[in-house]
Amino acid sequence: MQDLTHYIDGARVPGNSGRFGDVFNPATGEVQARVPLADAADLDRAVQVAQAAQPAWAAVNPQRRARVMMKFVDLLHRDMDKLAEALSREHGKTLPDAAGDVQRGLEVVEYCIGAPQLLKGEFTDGAGPGIDMYSMRQALGVCAGITPFNFPAMIPMWMFAPAIVCGNAFILKPSERDPSVPLMLAELMEEAGLPTGILQVVNGDKEAVDAILDHPVIQSVGFVGSTPIAEYIYGRGCSNGKRVQCFGGAKNHMIIMPDADMDQAADALIGAGYGAAGERCMAISVAVPVGEETADRLVEKLVPRIDKLKVGPYTAGKDVDYGPVVTAAAKANILKLVESGVEQGAELVVDGRDFNLQGYEDGFFVGPHLFDRVTKDMDIYKQEIFGPVLSVVRAGDYEEALGLAMDHEMGNGTAIFTRDGDAARDFAARVNVGMIGVNVPIPVPLAYHTFGGWKKSVFGDLNQHGPDAFKFYTRTKTVTSRWPSGIKEGGEFNFKPMD
Ligand code: NAD
Repeated sequence: MQDLTHYIDGARVPGNSGRFGDVFNPATGEVQARVPLADAADLDRAVQVAQAAQPAWAAVNPQRRARVMMKFVDLLHRDMDKLAEALSREHGKTLPDAAGDVQRGLEVVEYCIGAPQLLKGEFTDGAGPGIDMYSMRQALGVCAGITPFNFPAMIPMWMFAPAIVCGNAFILKPSERDPSVPLMLAELMEEAGLPTGILQVVNGDKEAVDAILDHPVIQSVGFVGSTPIAEYIYGRGCSNGKRVQCFGGAKNHMIIMPDADMDQAADALIGAGYGAAGERCMAISVAVPVGEETADRLVEKLVPRIDKLKVGPYTAGKDVDYGPVVTAAAKANILKLVESGVEQGAELVVDGRDFNLQGYEDGFFVGPHLFDRVTKDMDIYKQEIFGPVLSVVRAGDYEEALGLAMDHEMGNGTAIFTRDGDAARDFAARVNVGMIGVNVPIPVPLAYHTFGGWKKSVFGDLNQHGPDAFKFYTRTKTVTSRWPSGIKEGGEFNFKPMD
């Protein structure tokens, strides 16, 4: 069994806490590695290194910082297969999904190559007599990020690429479930020319997180994960005077209008509901057909498609639609919620409870489930299941469907499937959710827009990536300067002291 490490001061180091977490192969259920769980002293060591390295990095001009990102993009392409394999082995997602995870992170790195343009300040010539005013964006110093298990390449890159290109040092605390890819990314950044100490990886659990939240040198904390932890981190980080942005859980609704292309809607729900075993914050977990007839047609189209889904290990190749969930505990929680759905009266149209994969009996596989006639009071509706379980909530009309998405406490993403431009426009304008798809089931904005939900899916003001990331990872300084003109007639310079 492999012992993983931290990445501190340019080297893989074991850490001193003496505590370890198990890293599983979700397909077999075996423990394949141990990851060290940092204590406050391990974290402090990384902070000292970062603090010493950061001023020189901030003084490097933005073009040169951007060049490191260019080289890093090349290295990500070079090592794509290796990264995807390491990611699938610890997370369980299929290889194409794992490559997509790296790719969507890479796209934010590409955006960061525009740093020289994005970091330009503002200038007002002649704001008053002899007065000029300009603003500049300066790095914060040492920043930290705490990331979830479900996108172990993409989300770390969404944080550290903008932070670093803005001139900060960054300490990443990845999920302890799949820590190998973040370690590989830190090494690739240094191969791309990043000075030692600017990107470090400190593995750990709550103890490491609390050490980050309480460390006086750390200026900002980015978090992506579940809502209760997001709320906790936001509160503790803010009360310690840090700049904090936290992105939480989701319960994404897809409204299906009677005029929608029903085949297209059903195909979209299969990908968005069951892809990556439902372990996506932008997964659709609630389908809301409008009208009984629409609901009947939709369920009729979903069932045969669900029956065809192939569940298996990433090693089984391209035919597999989705892999295992991340841990035995995640699997148990999903199945517990499925039981609650049955007990609370939802109709289990596709029952995946007895799913068993020959040869992988100890793996964390969960068969696909489809619930119909789910109501607002049921736990499967209220809670994020984060598994391959889709709930159909039948709405009588459009207003009721809109109200469901509006009233849910989560507000990450939502979609409407319709041929009616008026309905789509009304939905996009009125719904209180951050990311909206019109005939697009998983509306993840591209790198040059920003990503973020509303309501309990977010704590903080600025979104992830796009222009918001450059605002989050810098602070503005505004200079007002006066150089009174002393040019006399005839050209002689007559400098007068300012009043
Ligand atoms: P999680 O909240 O369990 O863990 C996220 C991070 O927090 C990990 O690094 C973990 O070590 C740390 N953590 C866990 N418990 C902690 C505690 N008690 N105190 C301090 N830190 C703690 O989330 P997860 O299971 O890794 O990821 C799945 C969740 O992330 C889902 O809810 C999903 O919706 C959400 N997510 C949200 C987005 C988004 O952009 N909104 C994106 C991806 C995932």
